[in-house]
Amino acid sequence: MTDFNKNIDDWSPSSWKSKSIAQDVNYPDQAHLERVLSKLEKLPPLVTPSEIERLRHQLSQVQAGDAFLLHAGDCAESFDACTHQNISNKIGLILSFSLILIWGARLPVVRIGRIAGQYAKPRSSPTETVNGKEVMSFRGDNVNGLSPDDRTPDPERLLSAYFHSTTTLNYVRSLLASGFASLSQPREWSLSHVRSDTIKKEYEVISQGLADALDFTRTVGAETTTGTSYVRGGGHGVLGEVDFYTSHEGLMLNYEEALTRLLPIPPGVPRPQHKSTEATSVRSTPATTPSSPKDAHYNTSAHFIWIGDRTRQIGGAHVEYFRGIRNPIGIKVGPSMVGEELVRLLGVVNPNRESGRVTLITRYGAEKIDNHLAGHISAVQESGHPVVWVCDPMHGNTLTSSAGLKTRHFSSIIREITTCLRIHSECSSRLGGISLEFTGELNDEGFSVTECLGGSMELTEEQLGLRYQSFCDPRLNFEQSLDVAFILSDHFKQ
Ligand code: PEP
Ligand code: MN
Repeated sequence: MTDFNKNIDDWSPSSWKSKSIAQDVNYPDQAHLERVLSKLEKLPPLVTPSEIERLRHQLSQVQAGDAFLLHAGDCAESFDACTHQNISNKIGLILSFSLILIWGARLPVVRIGRIAGQYAKPRSSPTETVNGKEVMSFRGDNVNGLSPDDRTPDPERLLSAYFHSTTTLNYVRSLLASGFASLSQPREWSLSHVRSDTIKKEYEVISQGLADALDFTRTVGAETTTGTSYVRGGGHGVLGEVDFYTSHEGLMLNYEEALTRLLPIPPGVPRPQHKSTEATSVRSTPATTPSSPKDAHYNTSAHFIWIGDRTRQIGGAHVEYFRGIRNPIGIKVGPSMVGEELVRLLGVVNPNRESGRVTLITRYGAEKIDNHLAGHISAVQESGHPVVWVCDPMHGNTLTSSAGLKTRHFSSIIREITTCLRIHSECSSRLGGISLEFTGELNDEGFSVTECLGGSMELTEEQLGLRYQSFCDPRLNFEQSLDVAFILSDHFKQ
């Protein structure tokens, strides 16, 4: 059996190219692709090492049970949906959700958006039939177009993805810097969207309670300077400001490589240790003891990137790329993962067993979670690998409605979450977070999308077609997302 990471020195940002690439994209014009990539290599980073290190640290707190992770946003962003309204609605929903969680769980919430770069999509088939014609599948806005006439991969889309990510992140940063997210004024970013009276009332109680608590803290002069963020509002570490980080699936390795930079590890961050030369190493013995590096390869396109369930093959290109970057990473874990394979994978991407480095995002489906999760937990426990466990109750629960729309039932989503919580507690493990596909998008009349069934609004199959806007997976709308938040929050209150 090959150990792929006996020594990180055999890694480079392009070493993935010698491995087999799942979900590869074939560009008809390679020279054009190279031109785009060399342009990307020169453009500025979107995020910085200190922000990335900060998230790593916060994820190690999640792992220790001192914080909860909310990972959420669209299945896929689109260039057309990059509007100030959509972005502020998304941030508003993430903040509202986390506020409810903070209140119930009495824990800080680490927020990672599927935002500012979540364009590429893995597909189960390379082609699809549209209007009787077989065309290449839509692979996301950074690869090809949704229109069946625009399916040829175009490298310019990678550049456009970079600029849309930059614009999105710039707007998120300025929203947060101008006090939009201040926890003492939650009404600014949420209540206007809440239509259900019950949710509105419950939410009012929480936001008022929180505003009072913050007020009291200020009055008694106990405001702290800890627990705040880099992508955040003004002030330095003022209680009531919030953390926010970006993420996407690291699928397009050419793009990820172009945004990978060797940068100094910020002062104060424990340096990663070189793996000591072990028996299997055939390299010559170093003259001195291997020292801790001063620089590391950071993926500067996002704070956090993850490996999808379709690209997590040990020995494949994606795992090869991910093992060498310093960012905290996610790995999707579905029903086809074998416990022993999972442990080997952890050994490859986290050989030094650093806490905060790996988040496992489980997505089995409500019907299958009972057969798989406990085995995966015990395999990881026996290995001693530190991980954050996150439940993605979306991707194993997708179904097709009788009218042919891709949907998910709210009750299956809740069932996967509650089963996940139960199994973690039976295994003396801890669920550290939740990964959701949701949207705060509203139409011109202020109505939410209708993509998932059920929830307190009891959305029916007949209503799905009303405002079905996703061009990828179905997302929970504003009300359904807050329903999930209240259920989780109630669980933590018990
Ligand atoms: C996703 O998160 O949108 C996705 C495609 O997930 P998975 O890799 O778990 O199928
Ligand atoms: Mn999805």
